[in-house]
Amino acid sequence: MHQIACHECDLIHDIPPMPTRGAACCVRCGAVLLRAQANSIDRTIAWTTAGLVLYVVAVTFPFLAMRSGSIIQETALLTGIQQLYSQGIYMLAFLVLLTCILIPLGQMLGLLYIFIPLKLNVRVKFAIPVFRLFQHFKPWSMMEIYMLGILIAMVKLGKMATIVPGLAVIAFGLLIFVLNFAITAVDSHMVWERLGGES
Ligand SMILES: [Zn+2]
Repeated sequence: MHQIACHECDLIHDIPPMPTRGAACCVRCGAVLLRAQANSIDRTIAWTTAGLVLYVVAVTFPFLAMRSGSIIQETALLTGIQQLYSQGIYMLAFLVLLTCILIPLGQMLGLLYIFIPLKLNVRVKFAIPVFRLFQHFKPWSMMEIYMLGILIAMVKLGKMATIVPGLAVIAFGLLIFVLNFAITAVDSHMVWERLGGES
């Protein structure tokens, strides 16, 4: 049992464990307080696993190939960050590393760390702080912005050289969607209920 405030009229409610596909409504104004998601655990694990595969492809395969005459230069996600760093653009290199490499990876590993034990009905240490951290860092994944930057760069550089998008670009683009699906599949009410923490 935990408490939730109505976002419309601020009335405080005690929320009991919810049936699957059930919804809790405010007793005063009828606003939907929360909706239990069906198969939240399975869907979170499935999307997150797919995300990890795409992540590995996005990090290891070439991102872009630039061809100018007979010179071909390939860039991968990590070497791109390395190039930013070696050109002295430390802050941007750090931000890209954090928001496109470390945080998405942390989010996916964190989700699997919480949801696989939930699926198997086993308790793991630090599940509550890990989930709290996951919720805290949710807005910190900014792969969309990086993707936009890449697309703009491709259009601009396209006038000077032939740009061939690599496999990693496609994986990275898909990863943005897949990670979003994984995050929206998370039923945080259910997770707190199962972990025994407060929301
Ligand atoms: Zn209300």
